[in-house]
Amino acid sequence: MAEVVHTPRVFSGIQPSGGLTLGNYLGALKRFGETQDQGEMPTIYCIVDMHAITVWQDPEKLRHATRALTAGFIASGIDPTKSILFNQSAVPGHAQLGWIFNCVARLGWMQRMTQFKDKAGKNSENVSLGLFAYPALMAADILVYHATHVPVGEDQKQHVELTRDIAIKFNNDYGTDFFPVPEPVIEGAATRVMSLRDGTKKMSKSDPSDMSRINLTDDADTIAKKIRKAKTDPEPLPETLDGLEGRPEARNLVNIYAALSGKAADEVVAEYAGQQFGTFKPALADLAVERLSPISSEMSRLMQDPAEIDRILAHGAEQANAIAAPIVRRARDIVGMVGA
Ligand code: ATP
Ligand code: MG
Repeated sequence: MAEVVHTPRVFSGIQPSGGLTLGNYLGALKRFGETQDQGEMPTIYCIVDMHAITVWQDPEKLRHATRALTAGFIASGIDPTKSILFNQSAVPGHAQLGWIFNCVARLGWMQRMTQFKDKAGKNSENVSLGLFAYPALMAADILVYHATHVPVGEDQKQHVELTRDIAIKFNNDYGTDFFPVPEPVIEGAATRVMSLRDGTKKMSKSDPSDMSRINLTDDADTIAKKIRKAKTDPEPLPETLDGLEGRPEARNLVNIYAALSGKAADEVVAEYAGQQFGTFKPALADLAVERLSPISSEMSRLMQDPAEIDRILAHGAEQANAIAAPIVRRARDIVGMVGA
């Protein structure tokens, strides 16, 4: 069969499972805006509320987090007139294709997912079925738009690889080349921002400790305090990057500085070689405040008009649905489902 060439298209999502962190900004949002502005491919960005409820969410908080996340996207440079911006549950195609993919993906594939193991912990009998099936829905999020490029942080690499496996298996099972096999796009100096309290754990919006992360809504004093209290070691910064081996907390702060300043990590190390964290941390705090405070004030401005945010989401959902609905219709037909 001749290979179908799929039109390049970008899709990515963020869960409204809490407030946005510096990790979400550097690993995802900042790059979403850059990709949009390069203008090489259409960009579709989604607030994945169906993923958020795989862990119980207070309904009022979920509503607020969805709007705040929308404000965070816009404040970080995603322009709803250039990108499609919407929430997942408003476009039925995600759930429809998600079910078909539940029947394509294999149990063994899901059991290998490290995010499930991390999130379920020792309690895996008691977590929701949705948390386990999450990667099949994520595959649907991407493939319901025939997206070819998926910008994500390093932690999502395994899920995008599973999406590729699902696309390939669907195509093989049904003798078609309907779905593209999408590429993860993991780029930049901070593809995995670590917790400020533990350099071996990823910074997450759902971490119980607020001191583990910088929130995009933190004020200047809070950012400075969190960086001052960030775990480090007693050694000064080394001459070269090699000297940061085995020092995950120090490496993390250097990476954050690099990503925020647009410099390479080795340039940052060269600039601060031999300096103590007592010098480096205040410089990092100043840089973080300088970069994040315009985003945070734009977010609060946008949040003053939730009706406008809802209008933006509704318009985005309409545009998204116009792409997704015909793809779902065709997928149902391939599988052998009849009806409109
Ligand atoms: P949760 O704790 O609820 O899973 P999260 O902070 O991991 O929240 P997600 O909504 O799961 O955020 O992920 C949204 C995007 O942000 C994904 O592309 C993910 O790879 C990226 N991301 C999340 N955390 C980090 C991080 N610490 N460093 C870099 N990128 C990150
Ligand atoms: Mg996550």
